[in-house]
Amino acid sequence: MDLSEVKHLISEPAAAFLSRPTHRLFIGGQWTDAADGRSFETLNPATEEVIGRVASAGPADVDRAVKAARAAFDQGPWGRMRPVERQRLLLKLADLVEAHAQTLAEIESIDNGKSAAIARAVDMAIVVDFFRYMAGWATKIEGSTSEHSVPYALQAEFVTYTRREAVGVVAAIVPWNFPLVVAAWKLGPALAAGCTVVLKPAEQTPLTALYLAELIAEAGFPAGVVNILTGDGPGTGAPLVRHPGVDKVSFTGSTEVGKLIGHASVDNMTRFTLELGGKSPVIVLDDCDPAAAAAGAANAIFFNHGQVCCAGSRLFVQKKLFDRVVADVAQIASALPLGHGLDPAAQMGPLVSREQMQRVCGYIDIGRAQGAQVVAGGGRQGERGFFVQPTVLADVQRSHRVAQEEIFGPVLVAMPYDDLDQVAAWANDTPYGLGASIWSNDLSKVHRLIPRIKAGTVWVNCHSALDPAMPFGGYKQSGIGRDLGKASLDAYLETKSVFIAV
Ligand code: ADP
Repeated sequence: MDLSEVKHLISEPAAAFLSRPTHRLFIGGQWTDAADGRSFETLNPATEEVIGRVASAGPADVDRAVKAARAAFDQGPWGRMRPVERQRLLLKLADLVEAHAQTLAEIESIDNGKSAAIARAVDMAIVVDFFRYMAGWATKIEGSTSEHSVPYALQAEFVTYTRREAVGVVAAIVPWNFPLVVAAWKLGPALAAGCTVVLKPAEQTPLTALYLAELIAEAGFPAGVVNILTGDGPGTGAPLVRHPGVDKVSFTGSTEVGKLIGHASVDNMTRFTLELGGKSPVIVLDDCDPAAAAAGAANAIFFNHGQVCCAGSRLFVQKKLFDRVVADVAQIASALPLGHGLDPAAQMGPLVSREQMQRVCGYIDIGRAQGAQVVAGGGRQGERGFFVQPTVLADVQRSHRVAQEEIFGPVLVAMPYDDLDQVAAWANDTPYGLGASIWSNDLSKVHRLIPRIKAGTVWVNCHSALDPAMPFGGYKQSGIGRDLGKASLDAYLETKSVFIAV
C-alpha cells in the first residue's frame, strides 16, 4: 500500500488508520476477516493509488452479522435498555464523532475524493447534529389511548391503546457520495427506536463506517447492536437484503438497485424505505437577480461534484434572463479550481471512481451527439485521478437523454421557458421527484408553483439545504419513505394495537 503522496497532508490518527494492513468486518462486537478470506482494494480517486485493503463479506458473514444483530435485539442488554439509556449512548456517539471529526473528514476525503474541509464543515456537522437530534426522539416514542367503540359489543368494557415497538433487525445499505452522513441517517433513527443494525457501506467508500464502528464500541453500545459489513452490492448487499432474519431494509442509492431491493424485500415481507435518484430542476423566474440565481444554480449542481441525489441538474430560466444566467453559470464553472480533496485551494475534487468518471463523460458525449452545445467544461480533466470538468450544456431538448437521466456528476443542462404553466410541466417531466428549487422573490408566483412541483423537497432561493428535523425523500421514482425528521423514526417502528377486556 502506498500512501506516500498524501501522508504529509493528513493528521497522525488518519495516517495510522490508513496504514492498517487490512480493514476487517465488525460483527457482534468483534473484528473479523471474511469467512472465505476475500478482500478488495479501495482507492484514492484523486491519485488512483490504493489506500486500503478491506474485507469482502460473503453470505456466511451476512448470516453471522444478522444473527449477531438478532441476538442483540432479542437477548442482549440492548432490548432491556430504557429509552433514556439509548438517548445517552447516541449523545455519547455524537460527542465522539465531534471529537474525531477531523480524522473522519480526512479519511472521507481520501476515500471519496471530496474536500476534507467541506467534509469536516458539512458532512461531519450533519452527522453530529443528526445523532443528537435523533437521541432526543428515543425518549419521545409514544402510542396513544382511545375511547373504545367496538361496534358489536358496545356494552362491553375495553381498554384500548397502541404501542410503538422497534421493528427489529435493520439492514442499512448506503452509497458512496455522502458515506458517513447517510450511514448516520440510517443508524440514528434505528438506534433511537431500539433496533439493531447491519450496515453495509458502499464498496467505493468503506472506510469511515469502519472508523465509526470503533466509536460505536467506545460509546458503549452493546456488542451486536451495530455490525458493519464491507463488500459490494451483489456479493454482500444482495444476500443481506434477502436474509430472512432482516426485518427492515433502509436503502439509499440508485433507482435501478432500489427496485431490485424493493422486489427482494417483498418476498420476505421485509419493510423497506428507499431514497433513490433524482433529476432536480432549478427554476429561475423572471424577477430574479441573474447573478444571484447563477451563483445558486452553480452551487446546486457543482456541490460535491454533482454527486448529490438532489443536485440541481436541470436549469430552467425564463427566456428573457436565459442567456445572462447561463453565461454566468458557465463562467463560474470554468473558474472552479479542481484538485485533491486535501488541497485547501481546491473547490472540486475528483469523481469517486473511474467507472463514475467514464459514465459522466459518456453522458457529456451523448449530449453532444444529440445536439447540445457545451458552454463550459466538456470532459475529463488531466490524465490522473478521476477529475471531470464542471460542465454546462445548452441547446438541450427535454427529450434528450441528458435532460431525462440521472448523470450524478458535475453536468448541468440549461433550457429556456416562457411561462409558469410551461415550467411547472417541464419541471415534472422526468421519472424522478426528489427536489426542486425556485429562484424568485415574487411570493405569489412562488406559492402558486410550490404545490405544482412533484418533489419531496422544494427549496426557494436556496438548494440542497438540509435540517435534521425536515423529512427528506422522493416522489415518483425517487423513492419510498423519508429519511430525517420524525418521519424517519416512524419507519423503524411497528404499531401494535392492544385491546384489554375489563
Ligand atoms: P451507484 O450506482 O451510485 O454506485 P448503487 O445503487 O449501485 O449506487 O449502490 C448503492 C449501494 O447499494 C452500495 O452500497 C452498493 O454496494 C449497494 N448495492 C448495489 N447493488 C446491490 C444489490 N443488488 N443488492 C443490495 N445492495 C446493492
